[in-house]
Amino acid sequence: MASTESRIATTGDDAAIIELQEVVARQRAAFLADPFPSLEERQALLGALAAMLVGHRIQIQEALSSDFGVHPPLASDLIEVLGPAGRAVYAAEQLPGWMEPEPRPADPALYGSGRAFVQPQPKGVVGNIVPWNFPFDLSVGPLIEMLAAGNRVVIKPSEYTPACGELLREMVHATFDRDRVDVLLGGLELARAFTRVRWDHLLYTGSPAVGREIAKAAAEQLVPVTLELGGKCPAILTSDSVDAESVRQVLATKALKNGQMCISVDYCLVPRERLEEFAGLAADYARESMPGYCESGSCTGMISARHLERIQGLLEDALARGCDVRPLEDAGDVDPATRQLPISLVIDPPDDLALMQEEIFGPVLPIRAYDTLDEAIDHVNAGERPLALYVFAKDDAVAGEVLRRTTSGGACVNCAAVHGALPSLPFGGIGQSGSGRHHGVEGFREFSNPRGVFIRGEGDLIEAFAPPYGPTAQAIADAAFGGAT
Ligand code: NAD
Repeated sequence: MASTESRIATTGDDAAIIELQEVVARQRAAFLADPFPSLEERQALLGALAAMLVGHRIQIQEALSSDFGVHPPLASDLIEVLGPAGRAVYAAEQLPGWMEPEPRPADPALYGSGRAFVQPQPKGVVGNIVPWNFPFDLSVGPLIEMLAAGNRVVIKPSEYTPACGELLREMVHATFDRDRVDVLLGGLELARAFTRVRWDHLLYTGSPAVGREIAKAAAEQLVPVTLELGGKCPAILTSDSVDAESVRQVLATKALKNGQMCISVDYCLVPRERLEEFAGLAADYARESMPGYCESGSCTGMISARHLERIQGLLEDALARGCDVRPLEDAGDVDPATRQLPISLVIDPPDDLALMQEEIFGPVLPIRAYDTLDEAIDHVNAGERPLALYVFAKDDAVAGEVLRRTTSGGACVNCAAVHGALPSLPFGGIGQSGSGRHHGVEGFREFSNPRGVFIRGEGDLIEAFAPPYGPTAQAIADAAFGGAT
């Protein structure tokens, strides 16, 4: 994750900033001309989106490999193509129910035969600022609920994934009218200009530090904003669950994108007496099931030289502090072209170590010891509320207790990150890990205006509320206060 100061210096954003104004004006005019797309129109857009992803499958694989140095083609298929394509199919199926006005009670004694309901209404023109780690799933994914809700959308990909950004622009332009969906490419200046637009809604996915700047900029314009941020996602292993399967789940999640995933297991909390057993099981798994992982096509490269240095710096810092750092394979020097790093365990690091303070976002797995489950829960609750929390427990009551006593954006029991793959579950954070949701009906609602509507019928008493106050108002007050007014 790059700080704002160290971001790619950008020249040439001026044209993109002018284009941004044109794109927003075009979409706003189109929205005003057609503010409530029909169910059939929205389903057609979702179908086109799914076909766009499947039709560009090979180009998506190539663009990801270009930007990451190495990116497993099957990870690209499963996460960046089939994930959002399936989510679009799910949204299209559910859309008739999601769009249906929801009746609400209206007391007939006061409102007669009047009807009250909530009508989900498109918000209008929505902006989407995307990070580098899932360039398609985090651009096209939320686009699904944005389009399902009837909006127009402008997407700004990350400057760290130029090949994916170019491809996204090309395929979006080939699939959608530009007044429906558009993609703008540029660097930090464009990103900043993007936050100054008076969007009808803005989605930002990225680091909490930049999220704070986005929230400030959005507040200037009173733009409603969804923040999908990051932080440290813990996994608590309870004493009955330090076994080969739990360790496999943790390592497999860490290996996904080699840790560059917002809902990766950031660190594990393990019963002190089982710490060595965990480390042994991890070494066994790496040796038996992931031989040569780090140099294979399954190991995603670090996105940039700077990010690679940051992860290496975290490990050097741990070593300098005398920590027990155990790479799970001997990988030799890192090739700067592929930037593939082995997974390393850090055994029971102190809490003030940098890698226990900041989100790791790479292949480093601290295993911190705890003595009682209360202590593990207190440790989680003493930190920021995580984007996701994982608990491994054979005893449902223990898993339930951990879930009850902690707060996080999402959670899994006996696995990790799977909640993020389900199109039916809301996805998002809480507190410093974000606010708002996409995916599923919650995503549809996030990008809709829940317009409360009352349609007058007959036999109501609404004139009682307007001056001059007369016998009807008096009769209502007398009925409520027992004639004591
Ligand atoms: P990044 O560097 O790609 O930045 C994200 C986006 O913000 C980019 O499009 C960038 O151009 C834009 N940006 C940067 N500075 C800006 C500014 N000052 N004003 C406006 N826009 C600006 O990605 P990153 O921030 O390194 O992403 C990694 C972080 O994202 C991690 O913390 C990770 O946990 C989090 N993340 C969260 C989710 C989620 O769904 N909650 C998903 C993926 C990543």
